[in-house]
Amino acid sequence: AHLSRIAATDSEYNAFLYVGREQALAAAADVDKALANGEPVSALAGVPLALKDVFTTTDMPTTCGSKILEGWVSPYDATVTSRLRAAGIPVLGKTNMDEFAMGSSTENSAYGPTKNPWDTTRIPGGSGGGSAAALASFQAPLAIGTDTGGSIRQPAAVTATVGTKPTYGTVSRYGLVACASSLDQGGPCGRTVLDTALLHEVIAGHDPRDSTSLGAPVPPVVAAAREGARGDLKGVRVGVVKELHSDSYQPGVIASFDAAVAVLTDLGAEVVEVSCPHFEYALAAYYLILPSEVSSNLARFDAMRYGLRVDDGNMSAEEVMAATRAAGFGPEVKRRIMIGTYALSAGYYDAYYGQALKVRTLIARDFDKAYEQADVLISPTSPFTPWKLGEKVDDPLAMYLSDLCTLPTNLAGHCAMSVPSGLSADDGLPVGLQIMAPALADDRLYRVGAAYE
Ligand code: GLN
Repeated sequence: AHLSRIAATDSEYNAFLYVGREQALAAAADVDKALANGEPVSALAGVPLALKDVFTTTDMPTTCGSKILEGWVSPYDATVTSRLRAAGIPVLGKTNMDEFAMGSSTENSAYGPTKNPWDTTRIPGGSGGGSAAALASFQAPLAIGTDTGGSIRQPAAVTATVGTKPTYGTVSRYGLVACASSLDQGGPCGRTVLDTALLHEVIAGHDPRDSTSLGAPVPPVVAAAREGARGDLKGVRVGVVKELHSDSYQPGVIASFDAAVAVLTDLGAEVVEVSCPHFEYALAAYYLILPSEVSSNLARFDAMRYGLRVDDGNMSAEEVMAATRAAGFGPEVKRRIMIGTYALSAGYYDAYYGQALKVRTLIARDFDKAYEQADVLISPTSPFTPWKLGEKVDDPLAMYLSDLCTLPTNLAGHCAMSVPSGLSADDGLPVGLQIMAPALADDRLYRVGAAYE
């Protein structure tokens, strides 16, 4: 049914870069066989999923939304992919994304933008707009995204779906093509908090093949979602972050957020205001740290090892590399490689990259202080509802501003979730509520998210 839905609607949405019909049907048939033989299967066995095209798969191409990897098939599966296979979850295909996960609208994909199913003249968020649009259009009941600065949560917010950025180090990055290694984290997306929790438990867990993988047990997110669904938040302290509630946000977004605070209070939560004074520098710090890591990580696309190779037969190795990268990378990727190379260069390292790392520490300390007063923190997920396609493509800074509320969590390595928070009174478009929690307290997100939804 989902494959039919994709076939019928994806010319309109462009959520998928590749549809793995045969692969998905074969995986589903394996589940049928196991059931017929009375073998035990996982809770999500047979429930199909849309996979962001940044996780490697041996049976489908992995492009990361880039021309430089067009048609490339990985010789190995990402750990997330292997875990999905082991749980009997058929992968329907690979979803569209901003090139190498850089963007907030999916317009930086080399394969054309994805359209928001709520209004196809508008963006579905980014970088994981394909996964979010697949959920919102009922092409898939589950999806996987990655969140480096908001790429799971902001697309969830603008499509009225649910998405979690798990604690850094709890979902393996093995086989997740790197954008910024100290910030990247794969995570679950769904249409309900409980669905998302079930998927969270499938993909999270220690992986010896990822050197940043934590050894700690996965927080009990499914149990927390079930508890939250009872609708009682007595004893839960919810902190409203003063610095993430601003007159510069759309009025409808603020109105929806204020209504959410009232709902949480009605459910028994104790709502307090907290201050995180360094959050206003998160955007500046992120847009130095991320490009720095990008400039290093993307050096591997050298025309020798992967994908595209531009070579007229008379070029030196250096000319082949330069011509391939010039042709294979889009403008946003080039912009960030140049910013990062500059920020890391000998004369500027301390002033830019070093300074940004200090700010990162101050942001983590702000969080620590706030979590002395509250169990979870809340804010709007994004200051904006989905804007018109094309509206911000020529203004990178305007695009970056949509990540204002999501970036601090990545810089601190914590976890956060976006849940639907109704439609904006301004324009009738989806708004998301962001719930944040400390590292390894992902279960708190699900308790509060399930109570709220
Ligand atoms: N929009 C942010 C950026 O462009 C976040 C991207 C992400 O989380 N992958 O960097």
